[in-house]
Amino acid sequence: MKPAPFTYHRPANLAEALALLRAHGPAAKPIAGGQSLGPMLNMRLARPSHLVDLNDLIELDRVRVKENMLEIGALTRHHRLANAPEVQRSLPLLGAAAASIGHYAIRQRGTIGGSLAHADPAAQLPLIAVTLGATLVISGTAGAREVPASAFLQSIMTVDLRDGELITALRFPLPVGDLWAFEAFSRRHGDFALVSVALSFARDAEGKIIALRLGLGGVDTVPLRLPEIEARAQGRPADENTIRDLAAASAAAIAPEDSEQVPVVYRRELAETLVIRAFQSALNREKGA
Ligand SMILES: Cc1cc2nc3c(=O)[nH]c(=O)nc-3n(C[C@H](O)[C@H](O)[C@H](O)COP(=O)(O)OP(=O)(O)OC[C@H]3O[C@@H](n4cnc5c(N)ncnc54)[C@H](O)[C@@H]3O)c2cc1C
Repeated sequence: MKPAPFTYHRPANLAEALALLRAHGPAAKPIAGGQSLGPMLNMRLARPSHLVDLNDLIELDRVRVKENMLEIGALTRHHRLANAPEVQRSLPLLGAAAASIGHYAIRQRGTIGGSLAHADPAAQLPLIAVTLGATLVISGTAGAREVPASAFLQSIMTVDLRDGELITALRFPLPVGDLWAFEAFSRRHGDFALVSVALSFARDAEGKIIALRLGLGGVDTVPLRLPEIEARAQGRPADENTIRDLAAASAAAIAPEDSEQVPVVYRRELAETLVIRAFQSALNREKGA
């Protein structure tokens, strides 16, 4: 199918883009990489009468470490996130998650802002943002506001974004634990994951787990951080007993949707297996295995 007719706008900077979005209100939609909106336009699931192309807003394509945070501009593409030295040095979990998105062509065009705004519950970048406590910077003609990712993502494809607003950046607090892993399972290479796990933690001088962050994607209408499992891990050694206990408790803590294709029991078992795998790959990476 072809999209319904629309007027195409190509603003040169953020101020122009915000003015266009404000002028056209709910009839306008921004487009960044087009990797989610393009198919929705073609299927006429989205029928904006004005399309505001963000691709010339080069000020939103940036990765920088600022004081105690990593700031990523909304137009930063998955490919750049996967390869930026700043990300690899300060937040390799984010880089690994970006590298696992879809296929090469999608990573070349898709942006972090588009991924957060689209809010697919199985998408990688919203999961990392929620797990690591990122904040979104959201701009409108009246100014900017900051919203935690966990509050921004409200349900499937439902976010705290008002007409005329744009996501301009994501801010990830630093430092995070030096042990980390991203694990996901999908039926075919390049498909959205059925379940994914983001893990980051550190250990104290005695080898006990501290500062654990654990998040699961694909198990609810939004990505979930599991603070009760994080608390359960605190002060325990990262041995097989602990890991198996945390994985079983994670699976018990979720209430995924039931469907004929993916029954609840299957998603729970997948969550348990992937949590175990995440801890193991974090520890193996430390050993250089
Ligand atoms: C075959 C296929 C496989 C895929 N597999 C995966 C996968 O495994 N994992 C995954 O996470 N994603 C996957 N995707 C989606 C892809 O990652 C998209 O890149 C991403 O969801 C959207 O980013 P985009 O820049 O392309 O956004 P667009 O498609 O341009 O826009 C998406 C939505 O965000 C809005 N938007 C865009 N930028 C902003 C902004 N700055 N502020 C406010 N609103 C904005 C748009 O109006 C639209 O509603 C897949 C896509 C395809 C086609």
